[in-house]
Amino acid sequence: MKVGHLEAKAGEHVFGYLKTTASRSGLTPDIPVHLFAGAEPGPTLLVQGAIHGGEIIGSVAILNFIQKLKTTPFKGNVIAVPVVNRAGFELGERGSRIDGKDISRLFPGKANGSVSDQIAHVYFEEVIKQSDVMVDFHAGARTAYERYVLFGAETDPNNPTPIELMRRKLVVAFGLDQAAFFPPGTFGPNTTKEAIEKAGVTQITLEFGGGTGWFKNGQDNVRDAERGIWNVMKSMRMIDGDFESDGPLCTIYNAGVVIWKPDVDGMFVRLKRFRDELKAGDVYAKLIDPYTGDLLAEMPTPKDGIVIPSGQEWPTIGATSVGILGTIDRVEDRRTTDLYVY
Ligand SMILES: [Zn+2]
Repeated sequence: MKVGHLEAKAGEHVFGYLKTTASRSGLTPDIPVHLFAGAEPGPTLLVQGAIHGGEIIGSVAILNFIQKLKTTPFKGNVIAVPVVNRAGFELGERGSRIDGKDISRLFPGKANGSVSDQIAHVYFEEVIKQSDVMVDFHAGARTAYERYVLFGAETDPNNPTPIELMRRKLVVAFGLDQAAFFPPGTFGPNTTKEAIEKAGVTQITLEFGGGTGWFKNGQDNVRDAERGIWNVMKSMRMIDGDFESDGPLCTIYNAGVVIWKPDVDGMFVRLKRFRDELKAGDVYAKLIDPYTGDLLAEMPTPKDGIVIPSGQEWPTIGATSVGILGTIDRVEDRRTTDLYVY
């Protein structure tokens, strides 16, 4: 298996930095890549963290996973990238200060675009296109907490494509008790989902940990994130073994209600808890002046919905969505669902 100048032969682990482009900022955008070629042929799994630079729980889980994979026999290939957006990661920021762009929305990228466009282009051509399954770890960074598997909305749920069918299984196999999809266009236009599907790659995204949860539940989240990677390898028949999970059920939400940050910034006070059921008009949270305590804004839900584990915990400076509500689309039972994609 080859990625850029890196090459791993059967049974080898190779590490190096994938050359992307030159940056005049002094921040190096080259991407750390671990290539693992299994002793026997099989599919290729890509696990990646910190494409949003401040969202690091996946990175820690991937580093733990890499250490164990070194002594674990498996079939196929693994590409493990603990940090995709290196410039953002080194500054603890979501995007790239080099050009202000968000790499995760730019695929397939542009060979002659700005620095982030070029990074997206090289990474898409060399890494993403070589994989069969892609596990993309996100989190709430320092100001929010999340815990669910995220996947793209299906064009026609009654007639799913082969990639959509595979994704359904991977979402459940990963092992969390909750998953969600957003109606198309919820977060504005981006070319990424279509480009990745067109390349024949099945992607699931994790929104996993962050916020004050990092202190309270950090190690639990790291453990469960790593558990999910091993579950995906089982689903792809790269290793044998039983699936481990939060429990038998996985509730799938249609996350159709995003509560956006108001125009003002302030101290965020959430009035509802995860799994609370709200009616349209119920106040989900309020913003107060952090110095006087005066009420700055209330944030009611525009529609009925259940609070899924995704929400702001700290001042909303720079935040976009502060909470997500959904309706239950279905509940999957791991005891009766086929969790194998091959
Ligand atoms: Zn993210």
